[in-house]
Amino acid sequence: MTDCLFCKIREGRIPAAITYRDEEVIAFKDISPKAPFHQLVIPTQHIASLADAQAAQAGLLGRLLIVGTELARAAGYGERGFRVVMNAGPEAGQSVAHVHLHVLAGRTLAWPPG
Ligand code: 5GP
Ligand code: ZN
Repeated sequence: MTDCLFCKIREGRIPAAITYRDEEVIAFKDISPKAPFHQLVIPTQHIASLADAQAAQAGLLGRLLIVGTELARAAGYGERGFRVVMNAGPEAGQSVAHVHLHVLAGRTLAWPPG
């Protein structure tokens, strides 16, 4: 998608601190981190929102969780704890219309979210 920020990051048209990449998934550091560790894991394929996800994409969506977990573990947060969040739609606070999993760690994270 030409107008999508995260598609532009995928294509290298906007710079990002990329931490993982394969054919299906890319991870990069959030530009405005909300915790000492804050990365985003996205599918290379443009899916606007989790609300648009199809059953056939279950494997791909599962891979976002596994890649996010591997990144958190590799950074030493496997035991300490980390949080994965996917905002879907305006009331959930989704601001970029390309599915992305937030992976947050490095401080005590409050619950419930605001
Ligand atoms: P959302 O609010 O949609 O759940 O999350 C979007 C996230 O994308 C935010 O945490 C925001 O800081 C991050 N973000 C927005 N623009 C950029 C950018 O240009 N580069 C990177 N690396 N992250 C971005
Ligand atoms: Zn996109």
